[in-house]
This record gives sequence, structure tokens and C-alpha cells, in this order.
Amino acid sequence: MKHLIDQLYKDSNLSKEDFLKILQCSNKEDISYLTKKANERREESYDKKVFLRGLIEFTNYCKCHCRYCGIRSENKKADRYRLTEDEILQCCHKGYVLGYRTFVLQGGEDSYYTISKLVKIVSRIKRELPDCAITLSIGELSYDNYKDLYDAGADRYLLRHETASKELYEQIHPYMSYENRRRCLKDLKKIGFQVGAGFMVGLPNQKDEDLVEDLMFLKELNPHMIGIGPFIPHDDTPLRHEAGGTVEKTVILLSIIRLLLPKVLLPATTALGSLHPTGRELGLKAGANVVMPNLSPISVREKYALYNGKICTGDEAAECRKCIQKRIESIGFNLDLSRGDYINWRRLQCL
Ligand code: SAH
Repeated sequence: MKHLIDQLYKDSNLSKEDFLKILQCSNKEDISYLTKKANERREESYDKKVFLRGLIEFTNYCKCHCRYCGIRSENKKADRYRLTEDEILQCCHKGYVLGYRTFVLQGGEDSYYTISKLVKIVSRIKRELPDCAITLSIGELSYDNYKDLYDAGADRYLLRHETASKELYEQIHPYMSYENRRRCLKDLKKIGFQVGAGFMVGLPNQKDEDLVEDLMFLKELNPHMIGIGPFIPHDDTPLRHEAGGTVEKTVILLSIIRLLLPKVLLPATTALGSLHPTGRELGLKAGANVVMPNLSPISVREKYALYNGKICTGDEAAECRKCIQKRIESIGFNLDLSRGDYINWRRLQCL
């Protein structure tokens, strides 16, 4: 096993069979070797730095039917909300005072926010806080809509591919198209966004072979950011009785991803922190280098419930910021409050 890990470290790639062997490894010593190598690899590019992104969950209305997600349109129990343009701006300004220089605007697929509304919001943030990066995470749109958002000043876009298995993708995404999701990721790259893909670990019927396909897909796409987290069932979804993913497997995958794409921006996600009291710290020690504390107003935090047991729903932005700093420093890492772009990133000029 050590020899496979060394090979992955050296080549930043492996065959499908060898990835499978690492994924199925249960030997503690080998796993800690993997973690150690991933940690070394992260330090080469990022030292002990952990980038912070302020997450603003601005709407939980969603027209999609994703079977795992607590804000899916069929969930009549979800208490829906939308933040106004002014409220979103207030979150950004509050975050700015706390040191954040990247804001992630995430939401369900909510057609209330037309492209012209979104363009207005993005340009206003850019005008009022010109030294900040804006990341959007609002699902599937057309090439032209993505381009308008980029031209308005958005820098990055997160759109997890969710799973690279077409069969599994179709099982959990009624009325959606696997091909369209991939089209979106390609368009986003072409336009010039820093792009984030990613997947869930422990989906029902997901085999280790499917996770290997996720790794192959990521290697080929070569995104700037990768968000992965355990699938956690939500009580008001059709997948409520499923088992969900584990911390252990997610952490192994984070290490493999760090070795596969050495410079990628890799968050230790909230889902990981929700499954284990120090889940995010485990993720950072295994190769992750980004954390996304919540900046949404307290009044809406609980309503953006994608899964059961989400952490930090009761904490003020300032508390979250302090708590995360303490956690990061407790494991010997340093907070980095710069924009945290992908290494050597240059934005293409708007055409
Ligand atoms: N509408 C946006 C944002 C989706 S929410 C989009 O389509 O990209 C952000 C991510 O949360 C999703 O991409 C999904 O991977 C994750 N997520 C949703 N439900 C989840 C659950 N039950 N367990 C773990 N992660 C979940």
C-alpha cells in the first residue's frame, strides 16, 4: 500500500485498480501514511495556510427535486426564505469587517433571482467591496447567463458534479440531466471562472468503483476547487432512511484528491464538521485548505437545512469566525484572510 501511495505522490495519478485498492484500505498505519503524504503535498503549495470564505445562503427556494436535499421543491415542510439585495450586501459588509475577502453566494435554483437581479447584486458587491472575490453557487444556467455573471464581476463558481456515475446521478436527480451538469462545468471553465466541482460520499447505491470514477472525472476536468462531503440523510426527503457517508471515507478521499490535484483549493466542509465534532480539523490535517464559515443572518440559518444536524445554525457570524480561528490554530495551522485565489490566477479581461 505504501508503494501505491508513493506512486500517487510522485505521479499525481494512478490506475483505476490502484485507486480502488487505496479506497478499500482499512489498515490504520497505511491510512495515516496517506494522510501524512497529503499533508506534505498541501504544505508545498500552501504551507500552513487555511483560507476562509464567508458563506451567504441567500435563498432556500428551489425548483429542483434532488432526492437527498432538504430544500428540494417537494419538501413542503421547508420554511422558505429569500434575502433581499440589501440583506445580502449587509452580510458582505459584516463579513468584510470580520476580515473576509471572499463571499460565497449559495442558494437553491430560485428563478425569483433573475439574471438581471443577480447581475445587479454581483456588481454592487464589487462596487462597494472591490478587493473581494465573489463565488456563486446557484446551480445550472445557460452559457450566456454564466457569462453575464462573469462580466458583472463574479470570480468563481461552485457546481458539484455530485457523482460521476450517470446511473447513480439519474437515480437521485429526477428531471435533471447528467450531460447538462457536465456542460455547465465546461462552460464555466471556458468563460474564465475559477471552477469548483465535487461529489458526495456515501450516497445510496454508491460503490467504491463509482468514487474511483469521481476521481478520474476530477483529474480530467482539473477544477480549481473541489467540494466533497459525506451524504447526510435529511428527514423530509425520500432518502431519509439511508445510511449516509462516513467521516473516515471522506477524509481518505480528501487525501487522495490532494495528491491527485496538488494545488486544488479543497474545503473541509460543513457536512464533515456536522458528522464529527472535529470533522473539519480532520479534513484540514488530511490535505484540505479552505473553510467556509456561515455569514447568513441567524434568523435564516436553520432554514437552509440541506441535511440533518447541520452545525453552526445558532452562532452569530462573529462567533463563527472566532470559533473557526481557534479550531484552525489548535491544530497548528494559520488563518489566511486574503482572497485566496487559485495559485497564479489571472482573471481574463471581460470581452
Ligand atoms: N443549488 C446549488 C447549491 C446546492 S447546495 C447547486 O445546485 O449547485 C450545495 C451542495 O450541498 C450540493 O451540491 C450537495 O452536494 C450538498 N448537499 C445537498 N444535500 C445534501 C445532503 N443531504 N448531505 C450532504 N450534502 C448535501
